[in-house]
Amino acid sequence: MTSQEVRTQFLNFFKGKGHKIVPSAPMVMKDDPTLMFTNAGMNQFKEFFLGNTVPKNKRVTDTQKCLRVSGKHNDLEEVGKDTYHHTMFEMLGNWSFGDYFKKEAIQWAWELLTDIYQIDKESLYVSVFEGSDDADNLEMDKEAYDLWNAIVPKERIIMGNKKDNFWEMGDQGPCGPCSEIHVDLRSKEEKAKTPGASLVNQDHPLVVEIWNLVFIQYNRKADGSLENLPEKHVDTGMGFERLCMVLQGVKSNYDTDVFTPLIREIEIITGHKYGKDEQTDIAIRVVADHIRAVSFSIADGQLPSNTGAGYVIRRILRRAIRYGFTFLDTKQPFIYRLVKVLGETMGKAFPELREQYQLIENVVKEEESSFLSTLEQGLVLLESVIKSSKSKTIDGEKAFELYDTFGFPIDLTSLILEEKGYQLDSKGFEKALKAQKDRSRAASEVSKEDWTTLMEDSEQEFIGYDSLEASAKIVKYRKV
Ligand code: ATP
Ligand code: MG
Ligand code: MG
Ligand code: MG
Repeated sequence: MTSQEVRTQFLNFFKGKGHKIVPSAPMVMKDDPTLMFTNAGMNQFKEFFLGNTVPKNKRVTDTQKCLRVSGKHNDLEEVGKDTYHHTMFEMLGNWSFGDYFKKEAIQWAWELLTDIYQIDKESLYVSVFEGSDDADNLEMDKEAYDLWNAIVPKERIIMGNKKDNFWEMGDQGPCGPCSEIHVDLRSKEEKAKTPGASLVNQDHPLVVEIWNLVFIQYNRKADGSLENLPEKHVDTGMGFERLCMVLQGVKSNYDTDVFTPLIREIEIITGHKYGKDEQTDIAIRVVADHIRAVSFSIADGQLPSNTGAGYVIRRILRRAIRYGFTFLDTKQPFIYRLVKVLGETMGKAFPELREQYQLIENVVKEEESSFLSTLEQGLVLLESVIKSSKSKTIDGEKAFELYDTFGFPIDLTSLILEEKGYQLDSKGFEKALKAQKDRSRAASEVSKEDWTTLMEDSEQEFIGYDSLEASAKIVKYRKV
């Protein structure tokens, strides 16, 4: 089954259960102060859950573009190293806004997975919230347990803690207990050695969570307390790429047709083969993953920049550029060449990729050229800093120099240090950064006469330029 068919079947299944198919919301949040990027399918429906807005349809289904690189859900560190966490991914979902609740959600999820998609029942595990005796003092989800117990044998039902089985989008907002569905893709021999139940939620690459059914009934308030919502809702999220992995009989998301065209292209451009060496494979996965995150955000209107969401995007792209440079020997821009392939594979489901194709390609290419021109020097400097360091902790001032002069985002410096068995003095970095901020603020006050706006974003967010962009920005904002 192609990924295109997997997506369509999901949507049509829920359409058949009275759901309206709606489009994905943009991945970049423009007007939610609590969230920078969409991190789950439910974000766009927040106001319905809170009861502030009445939905036109009480049942909807869609595939949502998500990005998990900041805030409560941040998977960036895992991406590339494992085979099932992405920065950008699609979340398939079905929702009930004050309509059906646990019974239908559980039964339909099971029906779709085992009848329609024909996943082997024996390979599936489900989890149920066990309750918590902390400040929230929540009860075990007995209702969900009984519903699962009617269709799944006891040994495949797992009781889960708050971390895994109480879903929250951020520090505030609608939330509730959840039941997750996990799949065990190991061989028969491996399964005989270790029971699958003991590997659920243990970061095993072949025992992975595919679907989360969240039963939304609370709102987490700014003061940290929970309040009951006026109605109960269903919010489900299934990782599309993981589902494709299961249905296409492969053992990594990167071996599905969502990623193979990108990986082929990377192999052609770089001359490195995927599947031969672990470090090369990580780099290839990072590049294949990150171009999606970057392209989708640009298509949604968020360009790489030095502040806020734009800086997050720039960091992701620079991370990919550096992985290519160090492990795939790419000394020239090449990531932009993947934009075309991405448009070909995903453009049908997400036409914005095709419409914005030229812009995305240009922006990525420009970013690559700009960062590559300082990357090599920066890496040489970092190498010499490491060599001359007497301790395993690297001076924050030096990291700041890399950031300021060579455009190394701090997490990139940390990553490189970590690869070499070192760590960063992040307090020292913060201190140097603050000192620079104060200097820039003072400088922008002094030069009021000559300049209009130094940055479009708020001054609070202003965290300095790297040297290359500084000149470009100055030209842009100078009064003529
Ligand atoms: P995990 O425990 O694997 O990190 P999660 O519990 O954080 O997943 P949820 O918040 O429950 O994930 O999101 C719903 C579904 O989205 C998950 O069941 C999974 O299939 C998928 N998913 C979550 N994070 C990612 C990611 N970074 N990349 C790809 N798919 C993801
Ligand atoms: Mg997670
Ligand atoms: Mg989980
Ligand atoms: Mg989950």
